[in-house]
Amino acid sequence: MAVEKSTVTPMMAQFLEIKQAHPDALLFYRMGDFYEMFFDDAVHAAEALDIALTKRGKHDGEDIPMCGVPHHAAEGYFLTLIRKGFRVAVCEQMESPAEAKKRGYKAVVRREVVRLVTPGTLTEDSLLDARRHNFLAAYATVRDEGALAWVDISTGAFHVMTCPRVALGPELARLTPREVIVVDGVESEFAELVSDSGAALTTLGAAAFDSTAGEKRLLDLYKIGSLDAFGSFARAEVAAMSAVVEYLEITQKGKLPLLRPPVSEGQRSTMQIDAATRRSLELTHGMSGGRAGSLLGAIDKTITAGGARLLERRLSSPSCTLAVIQERQEAVAFLAGDTRLTADLRDHLKGVHDLDRALSRLGLDRGGPRDMAAIRNTIGHAQTLLSALSGDLPGVLISAASGLQGHDELLALLDDALVAEPPLLARDGGFIAPGYDSELDEARKLRDEGRSVIAAMQAEFIELSGVSALKIKHNNVLGYFIETTATHAGKMMTPPLNETFIHRQTTANQVRFTTVELSEIETRILNAGGRALEIEKRLFQSLIQAIIAQAGPLGALARALSEIDLTAGLAHLATSENWVLPKMDDSRAFDLQGGRHPVVEAALQASGSPFIANDCDLSEQSIWLLTGPNMAGKSTFLRQNALIAVLAQMGSFVPAKSAHIGIVSQIFSRVGASDDLAKGRSTFMVEMVETAAILNQADDRALVILDEIGRGTATYDGLSIAWATLEHLHDVNRCRALFATHYHEMSSLSAKLDGVDNATVTVKEWEGDVIFLHEVRKGTADRSYGVQVARLAGLPSVVVERAKVVLEALEKGEREGGTNRKAIIDDLPLFAAVPPPASVKEVVKESAAEARLREIMPDELTPREALALVYELRDLA
Ligand code: ADP
Repeated sequence: MAVEKSTVTPMMAQFLEIKQAHPDALLFYRMGDFYEMFFDDAVHAAEALDIALTKRGKHDGEDIPMCGVPHHAAEGYFLTLIRKGFRVAVCEQMESPAEAKKRGYKAVVRREVVRLVTPGTLTEDSLLDARRHNFLAAYATVRDEGALAWVDISTGAFHVMTCPRVALGPELARLTPREVIVVDGVESEFAELVSDSGAALTTLGAAAFDSTAGEKRLLDLYKIGSLDAFGSFARAEVAAMSAVVEYLEITQKGKLPLLRPPVSEGQRSTMQIDAATRRSLELTHGMSGGRAGSLLGAIDKTITAGGARLLERRLSSPSCTLAVIQERQEAVAFLAGDTRLTADLRDHLKGVHDLDRALSRLGLDRGGPRDMAAIRNTIGHAQTLLSALSGDLPGVLISAASGLQGHDELLALLDDALVAEPPLLARDGGFIAPGYDSELDEARKLRDEGRSVIAAMQAEFIELSGVSALKIKHNNVLGYFIETTATHAGKMMTPPLNETFIHRQTTANQVRFTTVELSEIETRILNAGGRALEIEKRLFQSLIQAIIAQAGPLGALARALSEIDLTAGLAHLATSENWVLPKMDDSRAFDLQGGRHPVVEAALQASGSPFIANDCDLSEQSIWLLTGPNMAGKSTFLRQNALIAVLAQMGSFVPAKSAHIGIVSQIFSRVGASDDLAKGRSTFMVEMVETAAILNQADDRALVILDEIGRGTATYDGLSIAWATLEHLHDVNRCRALFATHYHEMSSLSAKLDGVDNATVTVKEWEGDVIFLHEVRKGTADRSYGVQVARLAGLPSVVVERAKVVLEALEKGEREGGTNRKAIIDDLPLFAAVPPPASVKEVVKESAAEARLREIMPDELTPREALALVYELRDLA
């Protein structure tokens, strides 16, 4: 597009200049009621949005491709484009065409890019999931030190932590940001990591990451003299925060969102859970990617969007600090013990709006009167909540209650200023309550009086003209006008009436007039209406200022409401699902009696089957080797114990009869195998990579769950890897672990290793079928029942029967000390020689006589009964 500007129209010259400054974004160029795109942008956008691609004018002798979307529907298009990996530069008209004309006949309307729309910088409610965060993150390194900063501009929450390179993957997995910023030139190093976490990768120049300039940027932003006001930050932390702020300045074009003071998160204060573990435990996302099937989906009883986001945050970062856990537990237990109060609180929370997001929109000048009403109503509800929270409260609720207070002044202001149900947009006015501003009242009075004068004029005009079918109407083109049918119009167009009635327009059936008096009043109405609108706009700005001045306390209010909502939600969950308060301490205990898997239990409940509760005690022997056939419930048991640890450390009750847990610092889970074809790794390779990560990282406070390690390779390879892994966990990692395997040979390890105990999920064999009891007990499985399970799965019966024959031969060979498998296999009867499967026989229906015969107990028959039976059978035959 590098073209001599003189050869193009002034408008195209302006377009090209703006486009040059935003080469990476689709430029939405505002023209009247449309955003238009040109050149390659148009081609890409038309394809991505599935809209028509047209042409407009020529450039260099070639047609200019063009497409457009109506500006009022733009939000929806933004979202589609962002989902498809584009970013959008929104270029607005900064003056009206009339203003531009004043500057000269050919002057082009001044336009500027006012905003870059990117995945991490969305604020519109319609583009955001209310119950999830929308984080923008930046990763910085200064010398050997790394740090991650992240912000949710829709709520203003700003966090930072030191984060070595190896910890970045797990942290991104925990936060699931939408967009991650790194310094120019290192994209390829981070691309895989970032896309794994589902985020878009963005780069910024090194200047944005400069920690010295960054410090100054932060001091200016918060108008403070020293960052110490917020705590002490490492250089890398300052660099990461600085990049976030710089990016917001670029994308919001200097209009910075209301950022809360940065909070430094200690790396060690939360449970470490890596990406693979989060996926396999389905903590916040189910296998389908949404909430369905996840732990979050099963336990979310929160009512407000803020409460839901807090729940997701806590569940993603369970605490490792005993005092924090116990403080939260105390609050949940308090409310669980008072179901009346909990129900009351939850009821009041129903009226609470999304305070954080309303505040953030107002701060970015994208808010409307409804956001103000949301703040007003929420403060009102907070007062009701406060009055419900009295007496001797636990600490968490005491500090929440204090966040609910101190908003009386703002409430009084908003109560006075706003009507009960204001319109969405400030543009059309009508949101300031009567009585709030005398100047506005005066202007509105003039406007409304004018309207009633016009209503009265109709009668006067009818009398004057003698035309009773005459009406005063209004439309946007003509304003007010008098309308009558063509039949009567003639009279009004001839003297003397034509002196009063001035002809304006003739349509098919109607003729329209005005009068000097009518246009005078109209001007008065318009002037008064325009003035009223202007006053309202001014008042709107001053209300925004008043609200922003209270951003700190309002943020505290939002946090308090979310905390109350979360606590009440967890209390409600605890009582309705019959959960228990776990005993937490710094020991190595892990003793769960009657534990359940909340997600599987809920799914079974829906189908009417009971969930079998199971015990797990790793306090003494800290590794359990679990055997049992497929489908017995091994994975469910493994996962449920990990989930209970997560729930306990986020401060929740847990699905068990009793629980005693010594703080778990890390959870590792390697359950179920799946290919990662996108990365060109086989199931076995993925499994080994993940196992390696566990063995290298797990410390003695970790909880490890491993399922079927070594399944993806040949039997002896697999067994040896599983064997060595278990020994390593026992001797080196010394962690608490559950290890499920189908290699029964491994049970003998428990005799050698003190800390290993055998457990099995029991099944019962009945008439050749297996019945899953789903009960975990100490001991080993006697067999794997694989053939029976295969039959349940519907494998053709000839295959099942053949498998039985092979199995018997192999087992017999082994029992008799035969080591030569090949010889055994060579000795097998041929496939065709297998007798017809039992099920084929079953298909031939048993006759009534045969059935009767089978019921007979000969020893219990008297001779007389026997004779009667013979007759009976003859009749049946
Ligand atoms: P495995 O890992 O042994 O193959 P799973 O844990 O996948 O078995 O469980 C198989 C199925 O058994 C599950 O889908 C679930 O419906 C059921 N199940 C598992 N554990 C229980 C339980 N404790 N109570 C009731 N049903 C269970």
